[in-house]
Amino acid sequence: MTNSIKIITDALKKVLKDEQVTINTTVRELHGRDESYHAQQLPDIVVFPESTQDVSNVMIVSKEHQIPVIPFGLGSSLEGHVIPLKGGITIDFSLMNQILDVKENDFLVKVQPGVTRTQLNQRLKKHGLFFSVDPGADATLGGMAATNASGTTSVKYGVMRDQVRDLEVVMADGTIIHTGNLAAKSASGYHLNGLFVGSEGTLGCFTELTLLVHGIPEHITAARASFPTINDAVEAVVSILQAGIPIARVELVDEPSMKQTNIYSETNYIEKPTLFLEFHGNEAGLKSDVDFTTMIVADHHCEGIEFETDNAGRNRLWEARHNLAYAFIHGYPGKKMMVTDVCLPISELAGAVEYARETVHELGLIGGIVGHVGDGNFHVLLMMDMNDSEEIAKADDLNERIVMYALERGGTCTGEHGVGIGKQKYQEREHGTALLVMEKIKRALDPDNLLNPNKIVKLD
Ligand SMILES: Cc1cc2nc3c(=O)[nH]c(=O)nc-3n(C[C@H](O)[C@H](O)[C@H](O)COP(=O)(O)OP(=O)(O)OC[C@H]3O[C@@H](n4cnc5c(N)ncnc54)[C@H](O)[C@@H]3O)c2cc1C
Repeated sequence: MTNSIKIITDALKKVLKDEQVTINTTVRELHGRDESYHAQQLPDIVVFPESTQDVSNVMIVSKEHQIPVIPFGLGSSLEGHVIPLKGGITIDFSLMNQILDVKENDFLVKVQPGVTRTQLNQRLKKHGLFFSVDPGADATLGGMAATNASGTTSVKYGVMRDQVRDLEVVMADGTIIHTGNLAAKSASGYHLNGLFVGSEGTLGCFTELTLLVHGIPEHITAARASFPTINDAVEAVVSILQAGIPIARVELVDEPSMKQTNIYSETNYIEKPTLFLEFHGNEAGLKSDVDFTTMIVADHHCEGIEFETDNAGRNRLWEARHNLAYAFIHGYPGKKMMVTDVCLPISELAGAVEYARETVHELGLIGGIVGHVGDGNFHVLLMMDMNDSEEIAKADDLNERIVMYALERGGTCTGEHGVGIGKQKYQEREHGTALLVMEKIKRALDPDNLLNPNKIVKLD
């Protein structure tokens, strides 16, 4: 341990309990990477705050000693978000994991940032409520707000930014602010909720979140519809959306991904490009949505649609979809996963998915395509040998080509995973001079560049 790290550790132990501060190598290793292929780098110190005041105290020590801080939820992000590029103090929020209030009548909950989405849903069940955002991995609500996460239900309920009513944020100098209120709408002041959600730990640490929750639908039906081509499947989705059917989930899983799903999840689904669908509503409405969808998919050469109406079948289906990344990881031992993540206007989606598929084939890479296609968002899951520099270069090339294709058509370089390290090089191309505005905001709120430095915007 260097002298300065010893001094900072001692300073932290003056404002936190001894057991809340560690320089243990194993703990630092666990906080030096996320679920991505980006190279690990260790923080110097890891702290485990128990309160907002603890976080504020850590920020004051960080400012005094000019050492970076990196907020950490569960480390499930996919673009190197939590990797401490300049070392520093990682703030692990796992001890701030209390559900503080369930305001049933207002459809709101107040939680600490370390609460996970599954923990929250478990608690909400008894109130007949659920929290809608479901990224594949379990994740903390603080981390999900910081990455503006979304998932399979965003086509109906919206993304993380749509669920946040208020954040308590500890700023770089230790001051504590609230970004919103409990009202359903407000025309007051700048939209700070919008700014802080998706800020990836670069503008402040979230210490409390007030989130919108929804009533558990009266009836739920899920279905699998298989198609001869990806194009048919994507065009069916466009028609479903154009028809105004309030679909709750619509996920594309291509042929290689269906194969991995069957192996990993021990299912025997048809190994063709498939849409996983879900409908929420009352019995009458649901019947008409399902009938209309069945007609639409038939027009797009659907080769078979199978419904899952009971809980067990539905859970099996969505578990299989959520476990897809792990199905690839287990299917290719020794390889590492790289996930692309673009989002385009829905009218451009079919072309983009086809382009991605052709490019994967042209470059001779191994991977599957999956997507939250109702939002125009899709991923290529690539399995790479990290010792094969040629293969890594090809994967980077693929990623770049897919991003450029999306940007040229009014899309974005990341629909949901965020910028982290991996998507930083596309920020100027995507935002142009607006990136300078983002840099000014970062400098104004974090003048010493101590909060997760050099993520999203690179100041040095
Ligand atoms: C198999 C798999 C599938 C996935 N599928 C999806 C998907 O469908 N959709 C999707 O959106 N994502 C998906 N992800 C990505 C991932 O789950 C999200 O990025 C998640 O939102 C991060 O939450 P976390 O708690 O793990 O945060 P971390 O990874 O720990 O942190 C993420 C970022 O948030 C910041 N942060 C964490 N806590 C706070 C806080 N309290 N205050 C301020 N900043 C904070 C960190 O500094 C970092 O920049 C997937 C990941 C995996 C592994």
